[in-house]
Amino acid sequence: MITTTLFPGRYIQGYGAVKRLGPEVARLGKSAFLIGSNTVFRQILPAFWEELDGCARVVTAKFSGECCDDEIDRLVKLADKAGGEVVIGMGGGKVMDTAKAVAHLSKRYLVIVPTIAASDAPCSAVSVIYTPDGVYNRPMPHPRNPDAVIVDTKIIADAPVRFLVAGMGDALSTWFEAESCRNKSVANMSFTGDTGAMTAYALAHLCYRTVIEYGLVARMACESHSVVPALERVVEANTLLSGLGFESCGLAGAHGIQIGFTALKETEDYLHGEIVAFGTQASLFLTGRNKETIDEVYSFCESVGLPTTLAGIGLPEISDADLDKVAGVIVDKDNPVHNESMPVTRDSVLAAIRLADHYGKSRKSSHNVGPGKA
Ligand SMILES: [Zn+2]
Repeated sequence: MITTTLFPGRYIQGYGAVKRLGPEVARLGKSAFLIGSNTVFRQILPAFWEELDGCARVVTAKFSGECCDDEIDRLVKLADKAGGEVVIGMGGGKVMDTAKAVAHLSKRYLVIVPTIAASDAPCSAVSVIYTPDGVYNRPMPHPRNPDAVIVDTKIIADAPVRFLVAGMGDALSTWFEAESCRNKSVANMSFTGDTGAMTAYALAHLCYRTVIEYGLVARMACESHSVVPALERVVEANTLLSGLGFESCGLAGAHGIQIGFTALKETEDYLHGEIVAFGTQASLFLTGRNKETIDEVYSFCESVGLPTTLAGIGLPEISDADLDKVAGVIVDKDNPVHNESMPVTRDSVLAAIRLADHYGKSRKSSHNVGPGKA
């Protein structure tokens, strides 16, 4: 059997790690094209611009706000005009995904600097492309993972806590989905048809244990802008472990169910990881997990403030028609829910969703839950 496991070229993380951007760019070339969000230009770049500029010639471009084909084309043209060997993507998920596409299409090295830890996108070799109006369009796989990922935990600690918590929701799903894919020998995201090596499954498990054990302290640390080991561990779980885990092991029920809920407009204001958290809970019922595991996941989600009911993802009174629409998307033949070991039907997925919501509501009414209380 051949396995394929995917990694970014380098992963650099810590307090003040953004200062390593200059030396990392210099390692790969003489000049770089930096794509950044408004926040990056306002709050982050000024503090170390001189240092960065001293290591390499850097041309900058502001991200327009959507990771769509038009924006990618615009930035590829600007990158070609600027010359140089390296593309830097600095900001949130859409900036990173756009920079990945620009680096791929303009054949340059890629350095990713996430300014939030809201998902496991930074280390992966895929961009999610939207229409200019922000409607999901398609995934765009790339031939290489980023050459370097630099995560400054001080920047993460100063970002809104909701992002870190959402990242934990995304990371929460990784082990359950990895285990399902391993049990069924499902191909991972490498497009080789291979499964991941044992390393990938071990990292996915470490991802789960890390968020469960350090998630609440990390949340508190972010609220008080304190960089402490618990925060460092959770940032690593959200970004590196979850990234390696999902890409090298594969996705299954949690993300399959999350994809279903994105079909409803009401969930638009909720972050990917928040919906994935509810998807994870529903997947536990779908796959017949025991009460101990189910309660561990619910207690964790309640403690850090992740949704545990449909109301928590914007659906306090979902109609049967809407629920049916969600189930229809989930049972589509290309949905990763079919990586679960049992056949998944409209009825079985609806039952799991209804029960996940009921379980979350019952726990809420039986004790006063919320961040720090469970
Ligand atoms: Zn995800």
